[in-house]
Amino acid sequence: MTIDFSIEPEFQDQLDWITTFVRDEVEPLDLYFRGRVSPFDKRNEELRGLIKPLQQQVQDRDLWACHIGPDLGGKGYGQVKLALMNEILGRSSFAPSVFGCQAPDSGNAEILAHYGTDAQKAAYLQPLLDGEISSTYSMTEPQAGADPSEFTCQAHRDGNEWVISGEKWFASNYCFASFLIVMVITNPDVPVYKGSSMILVPADASGLEVVSDVGIGGEPLGTGHHAYLRFNDVRVPAENLLGDEGSGFKIAQTRLGGGRVHHGMRTVGVAQKALDMMCERVLSRRTKGSLIAEKQSMQHMIADSWVQLQQFRLQVLHCAWLIDETGDYARIRQHIAGVKVATPKVYIDVVYRAMHAHGSLGVSNQMPLIGMWMGAPVMGIADGPTEVHKDTIAKTVLKGYQPYDGLFPNEYLPHRMEEARTFIEARLEHEVGNQ
Ligand SMILES: Cc1cc2nc3c(=O)[nH]c(=O)nc-3n(C[C@H](O)[C@H](O)[C@H](O)COP(=O)(O)OP(=O)(O)OC[C@H]3O[C@@H](n4cnc5c(N)ncnc54)[C@H](O)[C@@H]3O)c2cc1C
Repeated sequence: MTIDFSIEPEFQDQLDWITTFVRDEVEPLDLYFRGRVSPFDKRNEELRGLIKPLQQQVQDRDLWACHIGPDLGGKGYGQVKLALMNEILGRSSFAPSVFGCQAPDSGNAEILAHYGTDAQKAAYLQPLLDGEISSTYSMTEPQAGADPSEFTCQAHRDGNEWVISGEKWFASNYCFASFLIVMVITNPDVPVYKGSSMILVPADASGLEVVSDVGIGGEPLGTGHHAYLRFNDVRVPAENLLGDEGSGFKIAQTRLGGGRVHHGMRTVGVAQKALDMMCERVLSRRTKGSLIAEKQSMQHMIADSWVQLQQFRLQVLHCAWLIDETGDYARIRQHIAGVKVATPKVYIDVVYRAMHAHGSLGVSNQMPLIGMWMGAPVMGIADGPTEVHKDTIAKTVLKGYQPYDGLFPNEYLPHRMEEARTFIEARLEHEVGNQ
């Protein structure tokens, strides 16, 4: 049996390089483009000019698109190495784009890699992996969030085409995307688990209408990067179907499983950054005759944050290891759901404490903390609300147990003690008999 937490020296060198590179070369992009340009805006010439040389450096270090196998142009490093990388990349909103592993493109690339035909890979996957285009994953509907059995957006065959009609909600980055992967009902007569499919739709397809752009938090009404979409009999060629007809739900599970863990990996980075900021601040500010760092209540907040982050990081790494070991998202869904449930909690707790420790400055628009804090509720909702994942965990845990057939439970002390007394007395009698 081997449980080894060490990192091989060659990869540690890579991680050290990533840390310095992200801090010195990538984080300036966050600050320069802050609130002006999205990392997903691949058509922005100024951003392209700055980001391309950085992406080249990442490729030269063999660190580009590590989540994808070598046959598809990635490095196939697996999820544990990706976790170690992502906890550094999570500190910067541009870093995942510089390293070719940004959501939702990373998950969409995984779908295309798993289920795409050669033609689909050439048309959609390759430019995605080359960092030339962005993509959108469109599953949620305005009347139905995390429950696919409520979905109504449907597609039917008409000759050599699929015709899509219905609405989709919160299609992230549609305004920057070249194509969408859309989950549609292709057979309403069977349960959604068998009757849904995934279809590739070019972002400029005729009949695709933006009902409204939806933003997050304080973004002005009518702006934002999450589209409310209406499909008005949108026609795409029959060969745009991804995988088999009826396999949409299965594909969604593959995609969302990885994506949920990747959010957890990046959250380790966000929370660590918040803890770093908190520690620096409390060592720098005095009140009532001592540093804030010397107040016991502050020490407890730092300790609680460190413990929580340490536990979460190990949970994420263990889940990543399980994905690498089994290659089967369905088999380890309990662990993926565990990471999903823990992510917003550790995020909000650690960032909130860091914000609190900065006082008024912490909640001001002159620090990044309030912006980071906004990310916490998003983590609890995007890719399915916490409650749904708790259901998954509980159902899986309960499968390992049986009901006890008696009025009182198995561990009812009077019964247990009586059994023990009978057992011990029989042994004593046996030993006395043998003397
Ligand atoms: C920032 C962001 C980006 C997103 N990007 C995308 C995207 O790119 N593509 C896409 O398809 N979707 C996207 N989504 C949508 C996301 O997947 C949904 O928001 C999510 O599935 C929940 O659906 P809903 O918002 O309709 O919430 P609802 O279904 O209305 O749920 C509201 C609340 O009800 C409770 N609830 C719901 N279900 C249960 C249950 N089974 N048991 C107990 N309580 C429950 C929970 O408290 C939940 O928060 C994004 C969301 C966010 C916030």
